[in-house]
Amino acid sequence: MKTTKELLEFAALQGITYLEGQPARRPFPAPAAIQELSRLDFRLPEQPTDPGEVIRLLGEAGSPAAVGNTGGRYFGFVIGGSLPVAVAANWLAGAWDQNAGLKVTSPLAAKLEEVAAQWLLEVLGLPSRAGVGFVTGATMANFCGLAAARHALLKRQGWNVEAQGLYGAPEIKVVVGEEAHVSPLKALSLLGFGSERVARAPINSEGEIRPDQLPPLDDRTIICLQAGNVNSGAIDPLYEICRMAQARGAWVHIDGAFGLWGAASPRIAHQLKGHDLADSWAADLHKWLNVPYDSGVVICRDPQNLRAAMSINAAYIPPQEEREPYAFTPEMSRRARGAEAWAALYALGKSGVAELVDRCCRHAALFAKKLKRAGFEVLNEVNLNQVLVSFGSDELTRRVIAELQKEGTCWCGSTTWQGRHVMRISVSSWATTEEDVEICADAMVRIAKREKSFKLVGY
Ligand SMILES: *Cc1c(COP(=O)(O)O)cnc(C)c1O
Repeated sequence: MKTTKELLEFAALQGITYLEGQPARRPFPAPAAIQELSRLDFRLPEQPTDPGEVIRLLGEAGSPAAVGNTGGRYFGFVIGGSLPVAVAANWLAGAWDQNAGLKVTSPLAAKLEEVAAQWLLEVLGLPSRAGVGFVTGATMANFCGLAAARHALLKRQGWNVEAQGLYGAPEIKVVVGEEAHVSPLKALSLLGFGSERVARAPINSEGEIRPDQLPPLDDRTIICLQAGNVNSGAIDPLYEICRMAQARGAWVHIDGAFGLWGAASPRIAHQLKGHDLADSWAADLHKWLNVPYDSGVVICRDPQNLRAAMSINAAYIPPQEEREPYAFTPEMSRRARGAEAWAALYALGKSGVAELVDRCCRHAALFAKKLKRAGFEVLNEVNLNQVLVSFGSDELTRRVIAELQKEGTCWCGSTTWQGRHVMRISVSSWATTEEDVEICADAMVRIAKREKSFKLVGY
């Protein structure tokens, strides 16, 4: 391979071939393809290798072993696909190789972030003057939002946590729901709050926090709510709890990794009523906005609190006229994530984002309908994009999931819901069509009926 152009075209072609082949491919690689990854594993050569050869092997051994979440039949975890325009922006941004940390290292990346931030706030229905940091995903976004909370509540107590740490600091109470994702808990442990030193708020059968059973809130309390339970999709009663928290001076953080996108849809937004009353929010872009990994945003009502928590010399920085990207994130050097966010939002428009969200929810409802009609149990109220299914006993459900994964029409994982082993269907990809849902639901029903009959005859 002689020129850079040839090399990049070669790589692009491999990517295109991969994406075009996706619909025909199993959504999870065959065991043989994973075995073949050993071709990538050898002693580091002493001598250089031709870059064309490097990319050839990467594509040849790598592509067949890639998990097919860019296709329409992957419903595992909560994982979005990638809009073609976002992949294209990602490739272009890769070529630019911008350091998005500072305005001076990349006016381009800074501008894209500024614009994308404004668009995101508008689409998500959040205060237009909020601060936005572009991070790797919801876990870092939770970390940043909770760091801003820690800063603000301790500052109010006359304590500078960035300078003094938590040694001898006034105690901050943290409340999370019984069904909180592990992600904010990890963030709390990183922040020195401890993942087990939290008060757990009781929940209802969908996993939503019960406002009538909330532990007491005060101005030294952070309450972490959830928009989009990772299993059921349930959304905490945001309005009611935000109002209670506001009256008592508590800080509300919303982990809205995927569920916050519901606010972009006029059909769904009522489920998130009051979401704009919180103090900070975490959302993924790589889930429901369907941009490539890794991408998420932290949003903070008062940008100063986020800046103070993230800045190197924190409280001493005077308010800046201009947005310096690094001042809103833990990193200094980082890639230009704004490019994909900007491209995806521009291409979709407000109605396109709403339509993407609605479509996924419609597909989830169709899954639920078809599975129920076939006699299987759907355990959650399917108000968003998540469906929890039991095919009977835990043992049978486990076997159906294993057989379904082996058969390869689609890929769903398992989870535990209210003590039961269930299959989780998460419809988070732009690429899923109604036909995909029909075909995949049929495969689920076919396999489940077969497994059930095996069981009856005593296999
Ligand atoms: C996915 C998810 C997270 C973690 O997001 P990452 O992007 O993996 O860091 C946190 N909270 C909820 C509710 C999620 O669904």
